[in-house]
Amino acid sequence: MTILEKIIHQLQWSGIESPRLEARLLIAHILQCDATQIMGDVILTEEQNEYLQTLLARRLKHEPLDKIIGHREFYKSDFKVSNKVLSPRADTETLVEEALLLIDSVQSTNILDLGTGSGCIIESLLSERPNCCGTAVDISSEALQIARENAENLGLDKRLKFIQADWFADDFSEKINDTFDVIVTNPPYIPSNDIASLMPEVREYDPLLALDGGNDGFLSYKRIAELVPQMLKNGGYILIEAGIEQAAQIADIFSEQGLQHIKTANDLAGVPRCVVMKK
Ligand code: GLN
Repeated sequence: MTILEKIIHQLQWSGIESPRLEARLLIAHILQCDATQIMGDVILTEEQNEYLQTLLARRLKHEPLDKIIGHREFYKSDFKVSNKVLSPRADTETLVEEALLLIDSVQSTNILDLGTGSGCIIESLLSERPNCCGTAVDISSEALQIARENAENLGLDKRLKFIQADWFADDFSEKINDTFDVIVTNPPYIPSNDIASLMPEVREYDPLLALDGGNDGFLSYKRIAELVPQMLKNGGYILIEAGIEQAAQIADIFSEQGLQHIKTANDLAGVPRCVVMKK
C-alpha cells in the first residue's frame, strides 16, 4: 500500500468525508506543492513522514484540515485561516455569486461586510471587481488580523478598510460612519442549544462567536436588520447567509425594517442559503 493509500484508509476509517482530497492536501502541505501534483506514490524523508504522522493524528481527532495546514480555498482564492475565524464554507460561495450578479463590473461600489472573519466574502468580491472598495467589520481583533493578512496577500489592502466593532453596541453606526451600496453578512446563526450537537470540526474549532445566534438563532439577524436602514444607500442591496430553514423568517425580519425581498438563492445542496433584500 502506498503512503497516499494508507492515509486515505485512515481518514476513511475515522469517518472523514473527503478522504482522498484531504490525504492529497496533507501530503501537498508536507511537500510544499500543489495537491494536484500528488498522485500515485510519494517519497518522503523520515522527517517529513514524522511530521505527516503528527498532522494526521490531529486530523483523526477531528481538527479540521484547513486549521491544521493553515489555509483553505474559497471561491477563487486561497485564504489563511486559524481557530480565530470560521472556516470558509463552500455554501457561502452562493452569497458571493449572488453579490457578483448585483455588483456592476464598471461602476465603483462601496461594500460592507458584517462579521468578516477570514475576510473570504468581501475579499472574493473585491478580487472580482477591481473598481469596488469596502469595509470589513468584526468584533474579534484576532479575526481582523487574519482578514488583513488575506487582503495583503490578495493585493486588496488599499481598497479595504478594517473596523473592530460589536454590532450590539449602541455606537456601532457611528463607528462605521459610512453608507454602502451593498452589504454582505454571514452572521452567527446557530441556535445556542444546537451547538453541542454540531460536528466536532465545527463545535471545537470554529469560534463560538461566529456560530452562536442566541436562543432562536436570529439574534444577530434582528440586530443587523435594525442597523441596515441607516447604513444602506437607497436602492442598495443586502445579501444575508441563512442557516437551515431560516431564510423565510430572515426575509420577514428585514421586511419589517422596510426592505424589499428580491430573492432567496439555494446552495449546491438545494438549501435556501442567501437572502437578497433591497432598500
Ligand atoms: N455555516 C456554519 C455551520 O453550519 C455556521 C456559520 C454561521 O453561524 N454563520 O456550521
